[in-house]
Amino acid sequence: MSLTISGATKRYGDVYALNNVSLTLEEGQVHAIVGPSGSGKTSLLQAICGLERLDDGVIRWHNVEFQRGQSHYLPPERREIGMVFQDFALFPHLTVGQNIAFGLGVRKWPASRVKQRVEELLTLLHLEGLHDRFPHELSGGQKQRTAVARALAPDPRLVLLDESLSSLDAALRRTLQHELRDLFKSLNLTAILVTHDPTEALVMADNIAVMNQGHVISVDSPQTLYERPQSAIAAELMGMVSLWPGVVVGTHRDQVVVDLGGHHMAIRCPAMAPGTPVTTVIRPSSCYVSASQEPGFEVTVEQVRYLGDYFLVTGRAGGETLYFYLNRPPKDIETVHFDAERLWCYPTGGAESQGRRAPEGEQSLIVAP
Ligand code: ADP
Ligand code: MG
Repeated sequence: MSLTISGATKRYGDVYALNNVSLTLEEGQVHAIVGPSGSGKTSLLQAICGLERLDDGVIRWHNVEFQRGQSHYLPPERREIGMVFQDFALFPHLTVGQNIAFGLGVRKWPASRVKQRVEELLTLLHLEGLHDRFPHELSGGQKQRTAVARALAPDPRLVLLDESLSSLDAALRRTLQHELRDLFKSLNLTAILVTHDPTEALVMADNIAVMNQGHVISVDSPQTLYERPQSAIAAELMGMVSLWPGVVVGTHRDQVVVDLGGHHMAIRCPAMAPGTPVTTVIRPSSCYVSASQEPGFEVTVEQVRYLGDYFLVTGRAGGETLYFYLNRPPKDIETVHFDAERLWCYPTGGAESQGRRAPEGEQSLIVAP
């Protein structure tokens, strides 16, 4: 039981918003889609819910075909999908209760059943007492809860959320992330959420699909994607990271030995032949500074940001940039060690060659975990 997408293609003029996308999303799981701005995330959601028609490809939910090429297209109202938009899109002239009931009236549910269902959703989304309020009388979080209640009212099995929490303040966003994940799981819903916030994807999702330039470039569990990304795009999307070039020089038991800036590091990653150029993924949390005499990397400190619990330091070593944390102000030069157990390498080229993520507007994606 799943949502299967095969060969999904959508073009706008010369731009491929979706370029032959194939993806299987298991039922009852929360799936996140992350990717730089313009990578096709919204286009994919719109094709699934039927707001946009694919140029080519097949979308099937269980044994119901939503679309097959140009020969079959099921209109959105017959797909039974709950959609939650970024801007809430509540009807301003309707109360909370009327907003939640809207889709049920369209479906001609009897009034008594509508009333009961609205009550259920007010309880489920912690909106008790707000039945008669209008959207302009609600806080951001209450608006978002109402939008989710409205989407869930007709009891869809599939819910799509497009950047739905991004306009909320950080504390509220964190609360709703946990709450919505628990809610989706308890209702055994299949949810697909588009987000540009790596923490949101890590907290909420069972699986994360990374999109770039109309392609799905990887699908992984949150932990695999964070710790063992297969490309620069995937690594950078999931949080702050230093990517250093290295060369495979041999193997040591089941580890690959990599020459990294003149140091030989044994790294647990798939076997690669000596001479293979690799990109080494170094999260700030994989770096440490110790008083021991063991050789480390001499890092010239360039920038320091105080983040409350720790200092985030940007430094240079051997022509490469390194991000690491310190619990004290840094000296001009620090000797930094890597926890080799937490490093990861992938061959340079491959998915990487699809282009590093560039759009300026998304640099804010790089946040400390
Ligand atoms: P994302 O949600 O990942 O930011 P979108 O799916 O919105 O990306 O867009 C993917 C690409 O398709 C972008 O290059 C965007 O400019 C283009 N695109 C999306 N919708 C339209 C449209 N209605 N008309 C023309 N181009 C569009
Ligand atoms: Mg979008």
